[in-house]
Amino acid sequence: MFDLHAKETQFAISAVRQACRLVKLIQSEMVTPALTKEDRSPVTVADFASQALAGKLLEDHFPDDLLVGEEDSTVLRQPGEENTLGQITHYVSYLLPQASPKLVCAWIDRGRAEPARRFWTLDPIDGTKGFLRGDQYAIALALIEAGQVQIGVLGCPNLVDGYKPDLTGPGSLGIAVRGGGAWVGPLEGDNSTLAPLHVSDQGNPSQARLLRSFESGHTNVSQIDLFAEALGIQAQAVRMDSQAKYLVLAAGEGELYLRLLSPKQPDYKEKIWDQAAGSLLVEEAGGKVSDLHGKPLDFTAGRQLLNNHGLLASNTHLHLAALQALAAIQA
Ligand code: AMP
Ligand code: MG
Repeated sequence: MFDLHAKETQFAISAVRQACRLVKLIQSEMVTPALTKEDRSPVTVADFASQALAGKLLEDHFPDDLLVGEEDSTVLRQPGEENTLGQITHYVSYLLPQASPKLVCAWIDRGRAEPARRFWTLDPIDGTKGFLRGDQYAIALALIEAGQVQIGVLGCPNLVDGYKPDLTGPGSLGIAVRGGGAWVGPLEGDNSTLAPLHVSDQGNPSQARLLRSFESGHTNVSQIDLFAEALGIQAQAVRMDSQAKYLVLAAGEGELYLRLLSPKQPDYKEKIWDQAAGSLLVEEAGGKVSDLHGKPLDFTAGRQLLNNHGLLASNTHLHLAALQALAAIQA
């Protein structure tokens, strides 16, 4: 096992646990899409509160480290948004009593850094649509050094044991450290209950369980159908929002996770915070992650995976067959 007491690992675990607590509180009191980003994904008070908290915790523990986060405060500083910013400040102050609108914006904006040799990347709420629907979502934090994900921590409040959907359970925390394995434990628990994660050993493509987006607009549904046909898949697919799919794959409860490009956005590039933590979980659980052409993910290209095209994660045994099927359907 990895060193649980390494300062970075402890920080990542603690920050994700605290952020999950905060967004669960917000969800229980107010789930409303507060604003609309240019890409039309709903952004909630919870996304901003989660990033403000993580930004401040990073400032306290690693003042020199950079954070590349999904959100920034631009929209919150606009006239008419005082109420939203006030709500965010109210919730953040549960954990950080010194919070003020100005400080909250500054903490959120710690996430504006550009990737460098060493940096953290955060998705304060991945799967916002699942969060709003009361389904799956995840909080993802990863440390990247020299283009390699070194630590990945994923908080999934609505999964139990890393794979079972359960809205009232203790949630799951997935932790991976490069070379140290991948582990899962209850989100609300301590580190004494961590169990190792292992991908499934299924080598028969017909039995492959596909992990799919819940939102059809995030993928190419007809190509997924062609892909499943090409592989002769008989098993039932699992539809789920967010990086929680990576944890399910790492836990051996699915074999293939595809990110095909939506025909409406053929030039879409994956964001690093959507893939960093989850991809390390799968790799350290014995799985494989590449793009749709088999190329390793390149985390040195900025805030997006500019040098990759889509994404394929698998239990390793089915990776080659999946790449061949993708080539056959020319995804
Ligand atoms: P999922 O819950 O797996 O459908 O994925 C959620 C993620 O999809 C979000 O983090 C978004 O960044 C990302 N996303 C948004 N639009 C698209 C798109 N057109 N194609 C692929 N991913 C997208
Ligand atoms: Mg996301």
